[in-house]
Amino acid sequence: MSEFWNKKINEIEPYVAGEQPKKGEKVIKLNTNENPYPPTPMARVILRTCDVAELRLYPNASSTELLEAVAEKEGVKPSQVFAGNGSDEVLALCFQTFFEKENETALPVLTPEFSYSFYPVFAKFYDVRTIKIPLKEDFRLDPDDYIGTPNCGIVIANPNAPTSRSIIVEDIKRICQGNPDSVVLIDEAYAAFSDPYETAVSILPECPNLVVVRTCSKSHSLAGLRVGYAIASEELIEGLNRAKDSFNSYPLDRLAQMIAAAAIRDTAYNRKCIDKIIATRKNTEAALKELGFTMPKSSSNFLFAKPPKGIDAETLYKNLKSKGILVRYFKTEGINDRLRITIGTDEEMEKFIAAVKEEVSNAKDS
Ligand code: PMP
Repeated sequence: MSEFWNKKINEIEPYVAGEQPKKGEKVIKLNTNENPYPPTPMARVILRTCDVAELRLYPNASSTELLEAVAEKEGVKPSQVFAGNGSDEVLALCFQTFFEKENETALPVLTPEFSYSFYPVFAKFYDVRTIKIPLKEDFRLDPDDYIGTPNCGIVIANPNAPTSRSIIVEDIKRICQGNPDSVVLIDEAYAAFSDPYETAVSILPECPNLVVVRTCSKSHSLAGLRVGYAIASEELIEGLNRAKDSFNSYPLDRLAQMIAAAAIRDTAYNRKCIDKIIATRKNTEAALKELGFTMPKSSSNFLFAKPPKGIDAETLYKNLKSKGILVRYFKTEGINDRLRITIGTDEEMEKFIAAVKEEVSNAKDS
């Protein structure tokens, strides 16, 4: 609290990101869904060969080269792409651009009960009312729950976080077509890890109210670079550009634009890393199930696992932490009985499973 802060800043409960270890601290970091593999080798080439003198100049305000790289890969026009400083910024701008401000007549935004915990913070920050729609058994999202409730917008992470489950693109189409007057925001931060791969970009021609948001943080191993983007109709993208140019016209620096474009163009390297993570995810899931854990089928680069009877999730989280293994635990009722575990390298996951095995056998002995 401070008398110098305005009412909103005094009242807001900011988003709390997963902890980042201190420099030099040796941990197995499975808590913030980063990619365990390095980014495209082109990143190093760009950093070695870039003209440092150019840093005195402002970057390209629209990230043109990056928009072209995304457009080419996704089969859309560059004017259907918008880039921002991480998908968090893109999502924040979407809230400002497409959703109604809170007043007596403003309709709410619909979002799943358990989802990315930044959505309610954006909503509060931009005075947008939200209604949380309960998930069904085993965190299943029922598209029918998003049809028929008056709203000014819908936000769904697909695959959802932290639940790891996804819905099929046909269901997204139903939600979009069932809400023709609202913008439907589909946050595909983890879509690259779905198997078989599906993206809502494929239904954009039939859904003029759809915005697909992506990030280079997870699929392209560039969380440290901060690059996210949205793909939508030209009309919706123009709205985002109006918001950007009323807030920060240069959201992406020169290096971020170049490296992200190169990473998106390096599809072969990207596929190799993603296939590896999917394979490791399957092995980790099997190993955890053998130890008595249960979890929904993951379409992401993490598992949302419930420990077997007799093992408390919070205690397990703390014990793993004391062994130098960070996973994510949410104290929120309804999901406080499980852990969100990012998929690391095979070696990291072997160490993780060995540590969990030890915990399970200690629990049995006590
Ligand atoms: N959406 C979801 C569902 C996420 O989990 C995250 C990562 N915390 C983001 C968006 C934001 O990613 P970034 O800002 O790194 O692009």
